[in-house]
Amino acid sequence: MKTVGVLGGGQLGCMLADALFKLGAKVQFYDPDPTSPAYFRTQSFVQGGWEDKKKLEEFFATSDIVTYEFENVSVNLLEEIVQKTGTQLFPSAQVLATTQNRYLEKTFLKNNDFPVCQFALAKNIHEANIISQKFNFPYIIKTATGGYDGKGQWLIKNKEDFESFIKEISIKFVEIIFEEKIQIELEASCIVARNSNNKAVCLPVFENVHKNHILYNTTLPAHLPISVQEKLKSIALKAANKLNVTGLLTTEFFLSRKINPYYKFECIEGYYIYINEFAPRPHNSGHISLNACNISQFNALAHILLNIPLQTPKLNDGFYCMGNLLGDTWIEQGNKYQLNLNAWEKNPEVIDVVLYGKSEAKKNRKMGHFVTHSLNREQSILDAEKFRSDLN
Ligand code: ADP
Ligand code: MG
Repeated sequence: MKTVGVLGGGQLGCMLADALFKLGAKVQFYDPDPTSPAYFRTQSFVQGGWEDKKKLEEFFATSDIVTYEFENVSVNLLEEIVQKTGTQLFPSAQVLATTQNRYLEKTFLKNNDFPVCQFALAKNIHEANIISQKFNFPYIIKTATGGYDGKGQWLIKNKEDFESFIKEISIKFVEIIFEEKIQIELEASCIVARNSNNKAVCLPVFENVHKNHILYNTTLPAHLPISVQEKLKSIALKAANKLNVTGLLTTEFFLSRKINPYYKFECIEGYYIYINEFAPRPHNSGHISLNACNISQFNALAHILLNIPLQTPKLNDGFYCMGNLLGDTWIEQGNKYQLNLNAWEKNPEVIDVVLYGKSEAKKNRKMGHFVTHSLNREQSILDAEKFRSDLN
């Protein structure tokens, strides 16, 4: 029986653990937060900080293999621990080094001719002022590291926005990147699962809708011509190979209909394709694969970690819509937070609800998700909308 160590005790790790348990593996988690979802689900929980070398070393030494669901860990520290303990980390620390830093990630894309938007790095306020003159409004500023769910992002529409951004960041400057704002027609993601024999398979292409920079809905099949979906898959596969990923690599795409003088890449069926970012781990959009595919993103990763042959995931019949449930829907009772699931009775099209067991609900915090299934794409989305409004 193998022991898989998971860095991070959030919902991604918990759903991965379900897939690992199914295959007879043991799972242990590492997270600084003793109230993280994994803490309540397993006896094998190590509470430790991300800089605690000794604890992390012990965690690696007691695992047969380690993976991560959380990306903001020091790559140098991980590399050192992998060397010392001999326990492999999937995906490797080198993959994480590229994907955890937006500037290195975009530079990788640019150097390898992957489609990427115009971007620039600012290491201090002086550089930020110079770069701001080269970018047309509106543009987006992001912290180079540490951002998620739209945190660490500023939409700059005019000079005043830039000035107030500078005021805010001057308190404690961190490296930032400037990105042109893409006129997005549609967002999509593609998850590649690649094993240590370099066999790589793709999950179906997901179509994603974001609200306030946070994933709102994912639908399957994507409302895109097959030729465009095939192109996205081939780009995602090429990226996973180039980065030499063992594990999962999610590629997030922007698709635009608008001609852009900076765009030097292929246009397919009127779509201009950009890679937005990578995630070398299970992805929120991939939760839909638990219901819509014969092999989920978590099953695929479990196979890779346990060295079990990898098969190509296939889409089940019908149309699916996955909706995120954010903290706003939760009701506070005393110091406990609850979701009123009575609405499920009137919504039989909802085939699954997954609650992550987070002890505190906050406004934009991802607390759970649900999936609807229908014979018609529009209906699956309408059903999701109805369930959401009945929950409130
Ligand atoms: P996160 O790490 O928070 O997921 P992203 O870079 O993926 O950060 O941004 C979150 C969302 O914000 C994207 O899915 C998209 O909707 C919007 N967004 C981010 N960058 C751009 C951009 N350059 N142009 C247009 N929209 C963007
Ligand atoms: Mg993203």
